[in-house]
Amino acid sequence: MKHLAQRMALLGTENAFSVISKAKKFEEEVLKPQGKKLIYLQIGEPGFDTPQNINEAAINAIKNNKTHYTPTPGIPELRELIAKRTNEKIGTSYAKEDVVVTSGAKPIIFYLLNALIEEGDEVIIPSPAFPIYGSVTEYLGGKVVPIHLREEDEFNLNAAELKKSITPKTKLIVINSPQNPTGGVFKKETIQEVAKLAEEKDLFILSDEIYDEMVHDGEHFSIASVAGMSERTVILNGCSKTYAMTGYRIGWGITKNKDLAQALERLACNDTSCPNAIAQYAALEALSGTQKPVKIMLQEYKKRRDLIVSLVNKIKGIKCHSPKGAFYLMVNVRELLDKLGISTYELCDRIMQEANVLILPGPVFGHFAEDFVRFSYVSTEENIIEGLSRIKKFVESV
Ligand code: PMP
Repeated sequence: MKHLAQRMALLGTENAFSVISKAKKFEEEVLKPQGKKLIYLQIGEPGFDTPQNINEAAINAIKNNKTHYTPTPGIPELRELIAKRTNEKIGTSYAKEDVVVTSGAKPIIFYLLNALIEEGDEVIIPSPAFPIYGSVTEYLGGKVVPIHLREEDEFNLNAAELKKSITPKTKLIVINSPQNPTGGVFKKETIQEVAKLAEEKDLFILSDEIYDEMVHDGEHFSIASVAGMSERTVILNGCSKTYAMTGYRIGWGITKNKDLAQALERLACNDTSCPNAIAQYAALEALSGTQKPVKIMLQEYKKRRDLIVSLVNKIKGIKCHSPKGAFYLMVNVRELLDKLGISTYELCDRIMQEANVLILPGPVFGHFAEDFVRFSYVSTEENIIEGLSRIKKFVESV
């Protein structure tokens, strides 16, 4: 496209969204006339409705005319509450000034990279990974340095490998734990080693903790809780996953680094002016109201994880470990790919067309994912059972 700025050619996307549009078209045009339906086992969002107390807070916000601009970094009471809740969870000492509320958590990635990355700067990204870290890095002329998260290590980060990949150009390390797409939860000792390296080499950390509540085995450990780290770390978190509020678009960044907090705020001002006012009041209720719905959702995810893992491992030619966190599952399909002589993209396409189940090819999450497909287990038990039964039939017939 000759009219577009050259940098647009460097900007990737979240291919999961394009896979969904293609699948919806296939379902509408091909399956629906035959009375058939797709089973969606790729979805990256909670399979529950937003809890009612939160929706009511949003309705009340409208009724009370809370429908105007707010301060760019969010309403003070929400920032204060986010700081307090974070301190209670991870033992930090954040104040309201350290919190910048944004329109979903994703902008924190865009803003932080914009604030830090110059042409040629390197960003270390444990991979496979949420694609936006890499696409924005490249858009800004930075270089992605992937670190291999291995299945045999249960997708835990290898600090020795990370150390070797640090160069004088390294600016930022991304830590995402619990991790999308692997469901890996990094060990506390590993994260402490990363903190030490960041301190020694004077590096910044983006700690994406959007799945922090979704730990089914073990514990979440935040790098920001290591002494001295809150000045060089931006925590990314938000309401999307924990409270099933993806469409409300409320997320936040937290840092003790004043320059970074100001940069995030300035970028947000240029971008959206402020997050949606109504959604901020809903977030206030999410964080201060009953946490019972969250507990119920978490128990359900754990049950569904156990179910899907057992069903996958009953299919010959594909296998997976039980992921410790988030709601994703990386399934190793190498044996099946070799048998069929196809790529993971082609496999997902065939599973959609022949088994009518939608899953994602590993490589939409970047490096080191050619042997994998990603399932999510947010769908109902019924859908998980039916979806896996269809895939089993497909695998056994090819
Ligand atoms: N980080 C990770 C690892 C994610 O998986 C997602 C959402 N899929 C986000 C950030 C963005 O969250 P939000 O929808 O609040 O922008």
